[in-house]
Amino acid sequence: MNTIRVQCCVVGGGPAGMMLGYLMARAGVETVVLEKHKDFLRDFRGDTVHPSTTQIMQDLGLLEEFLTLPHQKVSKMQAVFGEDEVTIADFSTLHTPCPYIAFMPQWDFLNFLAAKGKSLPRLRIVMEANVTGLLRDGERVTGVEADTPDGPMHVRAALVVGADGRHSTVRESAGLAIEDEHSAIDVFWFRVGRVPGGMEGVAMHAKAGHFVFTIDRRDYFQCAYVLPKGRAEQVRARGLDAFRGDVIATASELTDQIRDVNAWDDVKLLTVSIERLLKWSAPGMLCIGDAAHTMSPVGGVGINLAVQDAVAAANLLSAGLRDGALTDQDVERVQARRLWPAKVVQAFQGMVQRRVLAPALSEGNQDPKLPLLLRLISGSKQAQHLAAKFIGLGVRQERVRSAG
Ligand SMILES: Cc1cc2nc3c(=O)[nH]c(=O)nc-3n(C[C@H](O)[C@H](O)[C@H](O)COP(=O)(O)OP(=O)(O)OC[C@H]3O[C@@H](n4cnc5c(N)ncnc54)[C@H](O)[C@@H]3O)c2cc1C
Repeated sequence: MNTIRVQCCVVGGGPAGMMLGYLMARAGVETVVLEKHKDFLRDFRGDTVHPSTTQIMQDLGLLEEFLTLPHQKVSKMQAVFGEDEVTIADFSTLHTPCPYIAFMPQWDFLNFLAAKGKSLPRLRIVMEANVTGLLRDGERVTGVEADTPDGPMHVRAALVVGADGRHSTVRESAGLAIEDEHSAIDVFWFRVGRVPGGMEGVAMHAKAGHFVFTIDRRDYFQCAYVLPKGRAEQVRARGLDAFRGDVIATASELTDQIRDVNAWDDVKLLTVSIERLLKWSAPGMLCIGDAAHTMSPVGGVGINLAVQDAVAAANLLSAGLRDGALTDQDVERVQARRLWPAKVVQAFQGMVQRRVLAPALSEGNQDPKLPLLLRLISGSKQAQHLAAKFIGLGVRQERVRSAG
């Protein structure tokens, strides 16, 4: 049995886990990040780097180099509802180093953090380490067990942080109770070839009872077809041709490219949930990011929240961990600080799902009218500024403390 001892064991190398690993090690905490995949290349990830995250990169002195990675600057979030095209958020009005959403494949962002982490002697990132359960001493969590290609591994740690996303093994093993906010939607996820000179960044289309997002990933478009929760079988039963017809009736730019979807195997169902842990921590462990509060893709804000949780956790816990003085009350302070932002954003996502997406998706709604909320926002520069602040910076912006 391979056993290692660290001060902080982070489970999951997504935005929350990689940022937390980096910040903890930078603050002098002996840290390991365990990621179950062998790389960060997965196409179901969101690709948004928010102004709050670029602010953190600047705080860390990494921004200039980070921005040399290929990305697209999206200054406005726009929506097409039937014949109406409106601006929902104007990021260019934000007072921040990068007043735009940077669209960058998430694996580039995570690879960048991993590469920068190599210069931190206290950070170890172990890929292909699939955490299967928690180690305990009585009620207290004292580490994790993981499967690796070299056999089982035990990591003993003063604190285990579950940053392992919406199907978190850590939160399940800890038996933490979940509050379900009931998502109204699911998503079919597929890719098609890029339209030359076509849409850039992210575009939303609502027409004829359907909702399609296109995300420009340079070589191809990642597409999301939004459907009412639990209706996947009904959509499949109508056949692939009907599905392709619905997509191009909604986003006519994809008329030629939709031929790239040849079989249902090319279309993955991503079930969407909006959930929150009642308690984010237990003695010896904490959950952050989607493991603590699973986010819907609405607004593209889950990554922002996950990164902000990591910054708050590092600010609140790194000194205690490094000095061997961490208490359970210190760990509980992370939830006390981050619960409110998570609740507000999830309430917003639930409201958009019910008030904007559900009516647009309702059967027979062939010509969706611009919902009142979007009409109000699109008519006011101030509202577009506030929407940009909410999406781009979050409701409680965290800043990195100095490493000392
Ligand atoms: C279809 C869809 C599209 C989305 N698009 C966007 C978007 O554009 N912008 C946005 O901001 N948000 C988006 N979101 C939400 C966003 O993906 C999440 O909120 C965000 O990824 C949460 O980050 P995280 O680090 O907490 O978790 P994750 O990104 O889920 O990362 C968890 C990591 O843990 C690893 N892991 C899991 N289990 C184990 C284990 N047992 N052992 C070791 N490692 C493990 C996983 O491999 C993964 O790398 C989207 C969500 C969905 C469903």
